[in-house]
Amino acid sequence: NGTKQASIQEQRRELPITSGKDALLDEIRDNDVTILIGETGSGKTTQVPQYILESGISGKGMIAVTQPRKVAATSLATRVATEQNTSVGGLVGYSVRFDEASSEDTRIKYVTDGMLVRELLGDTLLSRYSVVIVDEAHERTLRTDLLLTNLKSIQKTRNAPADAKGKGSVAKLNPLKIVIMSATLDAEKFSKFYDNAKVIYVKGRQHPVTIYHTAISQPDFVDAAMRTFFQIHTDQPPGDVLIFLPGQEDIESLDKSIKLYADRLPKDSSGIVVCPMYAALPPGQQAKIFSPAPQNTRKCILATNIAETSITIPGIKYVIDTGKCKEKRYIARDSGTGFDTLLTKDITKSSAMQRAGRAGRESIGFCFRLYTEESFKALPDSAEPEIRRCALSSSLLQLKCLGQDLEQLDFMDKPDWEAIASALKTLYLLGAIDNQKHLTKLGRDMAVLPLEPHLARAVVASQECGCTLEIIDIVSVLSASSKLFFDSTDEREAAAEARRKFRHSSGDHMTILNVVRSYQEIVASENKSGRKEWCKKQFLNDRCLSEARDIRDQLREVCVRMGVDWRSSCGDDEQPVLRSLVRGLVQQAAFLQPDGSYKQLMGPSIVKIHPSSSLCDKKVPAIIYDELVYTSHIYARGVSSVPRKLIAEVSVFKNKNIG
Ligand code: ADP
Ligand code: MG
Repeated sequence: NGTKQASIQEQRRELPITSGKDALLDEIRDNDVTILIGETGSGKTTQVPQYILESGISGKGMIAVTQPRKVAATSLATRVATEQNTSVGGLVGYSVRFDEASSEDTRIKYVTDGMLVRELLGDTLLSRYSVVIVDEAHERTLRTDLLLTNLKSIQKTRNAPADAKGKGSVAKLNPLKIVIMSATLDAEKFSKFYDNAKVIYVKGRQHPVTIYHTAISQPDFVDAAMRTFFQIHTDQPPGDVLIFLPGQEDIESLDKSIKLYADRLPKDSSGIVVCPMYAALPPGQQAKIFSPAPQNTRKCILATNIAETSITIPGIKYVIDTGKCKEKRYIARDSGTGFDTLLTKDITKSSAMQRAGRAGRESIGFCFRLYTEESFKALPDSAEPEIRRCALSSSLLQLKCLGQDLEQLDFMDKPDWEAIASALKTLYLLGAIDNQKHLTKLGRDMAVLPLEPHLARAVVASQECGCTLEIIDIVSVLSASSKLFFDSTDEREAAAEARRKFRHSSGDHMTILNVVRSYQEIVASENKSGRKEWCKKQFLNDRCLSEARDIRDQLREVCVRMGVDWRSSCGDDEQPVLRSLVRGLVQQAAFLQPDGSYKQLMGPSIVKIHPSSSLCDKKVPAIIYDELVYTSHIYARGVSSVPRKLIAEVSVFKNKNIG
């Protein structure tokens, strides 16, 4: 451990940011807002919070470091705790949705931007923090933008001179420093937003990277990535490979193909270790990414855009860039409301450059773009901020709780008027605001739950219906980051057979509940490997189920704090469960047409029930669903039948409009 610590400290000293440490601290000490720009891997995220802590600038307060992604927050906190020779949750902690490691000793806390926005609800001045570091600011997530706006006004209050406020105040005693960090050079906008704040640049270490494009476009990018990887593996000198893919499914499919293909290589070829890296990856598997590959073995990391700037992986010499990413996009419904969905789409020039840069951190590198040079030239320069393209209902609800109005806030980029109107309508239909747009008691209760508004609505409704136990179980599975059922193409029949056991005649939500109940029995009787084995046999995703258990525990805790009895149960009666779900999913309802298809209650679309649903070959008068899948048809996935006596209640919503 002693030698390991020494080598970690040696690594720290060699980071590019080390040489600028004193100058940087002087700037932070002298300015309320500092903007720090530096190449990925220069040491911003891991070092700056430690510098601030050690310099005493943070005083008695805590330092918050925000990250757009959960896995970045947890893995960076773990790393920094190690650098401080402690374990995570002590001096260095983290707090992300449904997971927290911190204590009274915590001074540096890595948090998701969403968590810090949530903390505002309980502490509108963020008074526990003396320094807030907004990291990865260039990603411009919706929550980051909300924070940038709120931090600006919080700082005005907390840093105001005591006499300007009359009788002294917390202000003078508890000033706030803001540090904004980013890997891209587009800093001017941040500086302008914060009254021309000082911008500081850290020089990074970047070696030349040779970039290759394909001659023709590659529609099957997973296959193209595999071929390119094996060309590198057989023809090129040692060095690890980083492959950028859009999402978890592509990563898992490429992981499989690489392993299959590798088995066929000649016995004397060097080995391959494949390491996936995506948002839902369990913490235990993250460490593998940072440890060097064994002798004569090439490491191949399959990552989403998380490896673009948030997490620096050492040892990369080759980058393969599919040119794709997943992006949250708002899909408008004609009814004037809408929802977010994740779409695979082309990256931006700025992302393509970041991705290539990952090959040149330690020595010269190579980047293989699986798209043509013309395609690259046609890419947009940078992404549109989320606030301009995502659903605003959940943020709007939080702002309402803070007594703020989306329309009147000072944002770096203002949201569209239509997006605001749609969010207002959603909240109105859910009963979170009244027709004067005022927050209701119901809305306040919903905001306390760390869930999307429609799911929060179902949980609140479950109190009345007496089925909180059941609704929390269902909502936890729906909020997990991976899917419950594996779609096995190889063993389709066996998978369908296994699934039939859990089927409930009312549809997929009660089916989920049946799965959760069976799983709970297994958890009580089996150890971890027994559970895994059971899940595998049932074609269930054990990762989803164990994550859902953590979420469930958190939601139960929140209920206790709200004074809600989470134990209230309806036993085997599905009616109360469906009644609660209907309250949350009114906007996701559809009615049977004479021709056997379903027409949306609040929208023009004709939808079909997804083949994976237990209702897929049934006809029921009305359905509610979790999401729509757009292929050649529009499919409703996660479907339940609306009980007959609730149909009238649902239909009423069609004509409800905000005043
Ligand atoms: P920046 O924020 O400027 O991109 P970081 O502070 O994230 O840079 O990274 C600094 C260094 O710390 C990098 O060399 C990176 O490889 C290393 N590092 C970060 N997290 C870990 C980890 N979990 N294990 C080992 N090394 C890590
Ligand atoms: Mg960083």
